Amino acid sequence: MTLKQYQMYVGGEWVDAVDGGRFDSFNPATGEVWASFPAAAVVDVDRAVKAAHQAFTNPQWRGLSPTQRGQLLARLAEVCRENTDHLAELETLDNGKLLRETRGQAAFLPDFLNYFAGLADKVQGDVLPVNKSNMFCYTKRQALGVVAAIIPWNSPLYLTVIKLGPALATGNTIVLKPSEHASATLLELARLSEQVGFPPGVINVVTGFGKPTGDALTKHPLVRRVAFTGGVAGAKQVVVNSSENLSKVSLELGGKSPNIIFADADLESAVNGVVAGIFAASGQSCVAGSRVIVQESIYEAFLAKLIARAKTIKIGLPTDADSEMGPIATETQINAIEGFVHRAQQQGAKLCFGGARVRVEFGGWYFPPTIFACDHQDYEIFQEEIFGPVVSVLPFASEADAIDVANNSKYGLAAGIWTKNLARAHRVADAVVSGIVWVNTYRAVSPMASIGGFNASGYGREGGIEALNEYTETKTVWINISDETMPDPFIMR
Ligand code: NAD
Repeated sequence: MTLKQYQMYVGGEWVDAVDGGRFDSFNPATGEVWASFPAAAVVDVDRAVKAAHQAFTNPQWRGLSPTQRGQLLARLAEVCRENTDHLAELETLDNGKLLRETRGQAAFLPDFLNYFAGLADKVQGDVLPVNKSNMFCYTKRQALGVVAAIIPWNSPLYLTVIKLGPALATGNTIVLKPSEHASATLLELARLSEQVGFPPGVINVVTGFGKPTGDALTKHPLVRRVAFTGGVAGAKQVVVNSSENLSKVSLELGGKSPNIIFADADLESAVNGVVAGIFAASGQSCVAGSRVIVQESIYEAFLAKLIARAKTIKIGLPTDADSEMGPIATETQINAIEGFVHRAQQQGAKLCFGGARVRVEFGGWYFPPTIFACDHQDYEIFQEEIFGPVVSVLPFASEADAIDVANNSKYGLAAGIWTKNLARAHRVADAVVSGIVWVNTYRAVSPMASIGGFNASGYGREGGIEALNEYTETKTVWINISDETMPDPFIMR
């Protein structure tokens, strides 16, 4: 098989790394190398950031009205729609997620882009009723400059448009750094942006590893804003780097999300919600509902139903229409999952289903749905993000206990609540420390709804109108409207 050789997109040109460095990308379905990408060094990152900075100040971009910026984003939405199947197939090849899932995500990219396209000319300031009759005072929201967007491998396109949409709608320019495990679709997005006529340098893509590429990008002196989605270790380094350029940072990190099942829940729905929460995307989701907390009166019945459903899950090639779980994205990751499972058994957690990698004739890295029954919360698998199809199930006695267990985590990204009691749904939604709460559903997303976490799940919000504030700062303008001479300079106005 001939390797596909990609180039990066910098300042409107397709380029290799200056030193010619490259790295390989694997197809998780087969474990084979399928493509090679430039490994951007510090000098390449510098070139991309300078191109983005130049574009930010260039009238070709700066001179566009907000409506015109919105129109460009809407055109990008349109070409994404025309290329839905192609983008989905490429993402599946690169990160191994089921084609039906990448197709679903690719199909809603235009919704996100159109949402931010529509918001581009609705970013407005205020007139302030200042208590000085000789002053007219107003505010504007202004773009920050160069945005560095660091993207993980699990949903590259979705996690890019949710940053690129508000960043460009508000007039910034952007340098995207995809994950070293899934770079292809962001380069394809850059190619589509070229087609719709974004001026050179407005969108740039540099490919490479966390270090040196992401590191150089997030500490570059011309970067004013960093939008990072990934793990806690990288996030900490990004925060340290921001002490050099004092950029504004948002962090979308992982989770150990609780799915709380009350005795009055519709069990069928709750089982489906738990399966969607942890086994979809083979558990490689930031919002994976990996802690399932079940009221004791239905605990055994629920566990039995969950095991029965897990047994029916079909593992297979991500491109097969009937596959329900595909591969794990990297060999390192499947080894890490095995480590968690092994230690859980040593610690005494009860393995109810799964637990050992599945060997298939086509190679690749496949792990089955895995269910542990837990009798306390101190197991490593109950506390740490695994990023694989491993769920821990624990009984609880009362509503207060359920809330305590849910909140006994360093993370706070998402939570599911399953109950028919409306009052309880509201009470528990209020009490759980979590950026997203789903009641009698799981994994619902929309451009209008913000995502983001509390505590170790990060800070800042993506999506929704508030995303516009994340990519702008307020400018306050004071205008003296009196004709009087400016008085004594040593008196504050
Ligand atoms: P990762 O942290 O290994 O990598 C994410 C990105 O950060 C990659 O592009 C990587 O190259 C880059 N990176 C790593 N170290 C860096 C550094 N020092 N400086 C700059 N960039 C650096 O994460 P991953 O394995 O690709 O993704 C999985 C993690 O992402 C999980 O923890 C998951 O929960 C999280 N995630 C969060 C969300 C969310 O919206 N909250 C969404 C998806 C994934």
